[in-house]
Amino acid sequence: MAPRQLVVFDFDWSMADQDTDRWIFEVHAPDIRRKIKNLEDEVQWTDLVAQSLEELHGRGKTRDDIENALRIMPFHPAMVRAVTNLKASTNTTLLCLSNANSAFISTILHAKGLENLFEEIITNPASFEPSGLLKLRRRVDPTGPQHQCKVGCSPNLCKGEELEAFLARHLPEYDRVIYVGDGENDFCPILRMRSQDMVLCRRLRGLEHRIAQEGEKEGLKCQVKYWAGAWEVEEIFTQLST
Ligand SMILES: [Mg+2]
Repeated sequence: MAPRQLVVFDFDWSMADQDTDRWIFEVHAPDIRRKIKNLEDEVQWTDLVAQSLEELHGRGKTRDDIENALRIMPFHPAMVRAVTNLKASTNTTLLCLSNANSAFISTILHAKGLENLFEEIITNPASFEPSGLLKLRRRVDPTGPQHQCKVGCSPNLCKGEELEAFLARHLPEYDRVIYVGDGENDFCPILRMRSQDMVLCRRLRGLEHRIAQEGEKEGLKCQVKYWAGAWEVEEIFTQLST
């Protein structure tokens, strides 16, 4: 029988070739983009994006403006092929685990014809209000119980805890888990993976650095393959299918 596998995708700079949160402001308000860069070490990231979206709305930018910017965001055609063929040719469940938000991700997936790709999209909730304001909230409500992460995840979401909870909801255990990621916050979930699992780590970004600095010390068990362009992910997926 074909192995039952789970492929977990980070979204920004992993599935997509850009960062949604920053891109919106690069397209519509470079000065707000600069302000985000200046404040990112002081203000929690999701809160910072939420307040920046309010500022953008205050300037008269509409839902269409935001969605149109997302539709033209760089997204490699090889990634569309890679995930479509993987799903069609193997026994694979796909999970999206992202620090962006539900509105950005669903807009882009629709634009690429991938709206039915993922079993679940675990991210920060966001929805457009009738006024056109995109209201963004942390996945972990700041007024309720907080996650217990010790690996450095931001308060809004611990990808490691979310991955473990997903796996517990989808028993029996997958034969293999493959994680596609690039960022510092993708380090926590890959620490929970087993020796038969694999991380596809994008080159030259935060995850590669953390694996090099902390992988051995933290007991990283899964295999690591590196990639730079989506065509290489496609190539690896093709090898997995045979
Ligand atoms: Mg990312």
